[in-house]
Amino acid sequence: MADTTVLITLEPCLMCVRALRHLRVRQVLFGARNERFGGTDSVYNVSANELIDEPVLHCHQLLDADKAVDLLQRFYQQTNDSAPKPHRKRLKT
Ligand SMILES: [Zn+2]
Repeated sequence: MADTTVLITLEPCLMCVRALRHLRVRQVLFGARNERFGGTDSVYNVSANELIDEPVLHCHQLLDADKAVDLLQRFYQQTNDSAPKPHRKRLKT
């Protein structure tokens, strides 16, 4: 897994970052920040925490955040008929 790059829509949560580090994934590229559960910087940075005795997980927000959120919303709309209608959060200024 050392040469693996994971490409995802949403910043991984704390637990996913920990699991990816355990699997020794090299890097994660994501679209939108996860302000509620993000484990790379939004809530708490687990990806480079030196207390964890495993290789650092390099995480970068390189993808278009709006497109990533749209893709994620379409996914949930297709898989869950009870899903709430999408709405946009207002960006903090
Ligand atoms: Zn997760």
